[in-house]
Amino acid sequence: MSISEQQEACFVCQKHKGQLALPGGIIYEDELIFASHHIPEDGPTSYLGWLIVEPKRHFPGLVEQTEEEAKASGLLIARLSRALKVCTEAEHIYAFVLGHHVPHLHIHLLPRYPGTPRDYWGVRVPEWPDAPQGDAQHIALLCERVRDYLTTDEEGPSFNFPD
Ligand SMILES: [Zn+2]
Repeated sequence: MSISEQQEACFVCQKHKGQLALPGGIIYEDELIFASHHIPEDGPTSYLGWLIVEPKRHFPGLVEQTEEEAKASGLLIARLSRALKVCTEAEHIYAFVLGHHVPHLHIHLLPRYPGTPRDYWGVRVPEWPDAPQGDAQHIALLCERVRDYLTTDEEGPSFNFPD
């Protein structure tokens, strides 16, 4: 498969082209990076606050990043983590790179909610049966709050959001 065919078939590239319905819309986008909420997979809801940060360019992992991409995603991950912690009242924010399915780098950011049993800490947080789940409406509200927090955060310069 050629590189252009791989990009054509890539779920993440399709998302960046606007070919997938995104609950909550785009949280952040510039020429290098893209952030949005996780899309519900097995039903109408998803673990609330599960954000995904992706480079715009199609490549599989952390290793292939340029310095510019690494700086951009590192800064966005830090700011999104702060926003997520405040907006969800999480006790901790996880960041994971797994890459078991889609060969386009994507960094998962997940809040760990207070009261999460120790057995569900780490990559299993979304499996906790009592974890907050969001439907499209809840996800949209949370994404709005995260965007608001990012644009008004006085600790750093405001993000430039797409119109
Ligand atoms: Zn891709």
